Amino acid sequence: MEAGDRMGALLDGKGYADRIVAEVKAEVAARLAAGGSTPCLAVVLVGEDPASEVYVRGKVRACAETGIRSLERKLPATTDQATLEAVVDALNADPSVHGILVQLPLPKHLDTKAILYRVDPAKDVDGFHPMNQGLLFQGVKGLRSCTPAAVMRMLELHGVALEGKRAVVLGRSEIVGKPMALMLLEANATVTIAHSRTKDLPSVCREADLLVVAVGRPGLVEGSWIKPGAVVVDVGINRVEDVALGERIFAAEPAKLAKLREKGHVLCGDVRFGEALPVASAVTPVPGGVGPLTIAGLMRNTLQAASAQG
Ligand code: NAP
Repeated sequence: MEAGDRMGALLDGKGYADRIVAEVKAEVAARLAAGGSTPCLAVVLVGEDPASEVYVRGKVRACAETGIRSLERKLPATTDQATLEAVVDALNADPSVHGILVQLPLPKHLDTKAILYRVDPAKDVDGFHPMNQGLLFQGVKGLRSCTPAAVMRMLELHGVALEGKRAVVLGRSEIVGKPMALMLLEANATVTIAHSRTKDLPSVCREADLLVVAVGRPGLVEGSWIKPGAVVVDVGINRVEDVALGERIFAAEPAKLAKLREKGHVLCGDVRFGEALPVASAVTPVPGGVGPLTIAGLMRNTLQAASAQG
C-alpha cells in the first residue's frame, strides 16, 4: 500500500490517538471561548468487573485531558432492568449531558440490547444504537462506532490509500467488524468480511492489502497469513496466562515471552506481532495500538454530539 514504503514499521496507534486527543482538546477550548457549554460524557457502569473499571478509568482520564466533563453513574451488580432504564432515561432528559456510554458487558440478567436501544441516538457516543448504525449503512453522517471510526482516522493520518485496495476484516461483530467493513467500503476499498465459518482463512487473509483483525483469539493470525507489504490493524485485546500458548504465539517475540514467564500474564492481540512485523509494511502493537485510538474516538464522538446538540 502507499504507506508501505518499507517493511516492518510500527503503526503507532498511541501516537495517532494522542494527535486526535490534542485536536479534540483544541476544539473543546475553541467551543468554550465562543461561549459554548462544556461537553459532558456520562458513563454508566453496572457491577465491579475489574476490566470494565480499568476501561472506565481510562475514559474518565481522557475526558479530563480534553476538557470534557465526565460523570460516572456506578450501580451495583444486582441492579434490575427497570432501574437501569430509569438511569438512562434521566441522562437522556438532562440537557447538560451530551454523551451517554453504558459500559459493556452488562451483568447477564440484564437485557443489553434493550438498554442500548434506550439511549437517545443523539447522545449515543458509542454508535451502537440501530439509528446510528442505520445511518452508517446509508453512508449518512451520524455517531459512528468509536473503534472502527478511529481506525479509519489513523489510516488517513498514516497516509494509507484505500481506494481500490483489497481489505479483509476478520470478525463480524456489530461493534467492530461490521461497521469497520462499511467504513472501508465507503472509502472505496474492496472489502471481504471473514469469520469463524470462513473456509481457508489464511488464504483469504493473504489477499489483503489491509488486514483488520477483531476476533478475540490470541495470536490467531500468523506471519504466513499476511501478504508482504500489507498494513495490519490488530483490534484484539487478550490476556494470556498460559505459558505453553505463549511459547507458540510469542516465538518471534522473546521479550513478551520473558515477561509472561516473569509476571504470569501479558496482553496481546489477535495477530502474532513478532511474525507480522517483518512481512507487513505496518502493524499496530497491542497494547498501545487500537485501544488508545478507541478512547480518542470516544472523545471525538462526545464533542460531535455536543456540537450537534448546540
Ligand atoms: P466478538 O463480538 O466476540 O466477535 C468476534 C468475531 O470473531 C466473530 O465475528 C467471530 O465469528 C470471529 N471469530 C471468532 N473466532 C474466530 C476464528 N477462530 N476464526 C475466525 N473468526 C473468528 O468480538 P468483538 O467485540 O468484535 O471484539 C474482538 C476483539 O477486539 C476482542 O479481543 C475485544 O476485546 C477487542 N476489542 C478491542 C477494542 C479496542 O479498543 N482495542 C474495542 C472493541 C473490541 P462468528 O461471527 O462466526 O462467531
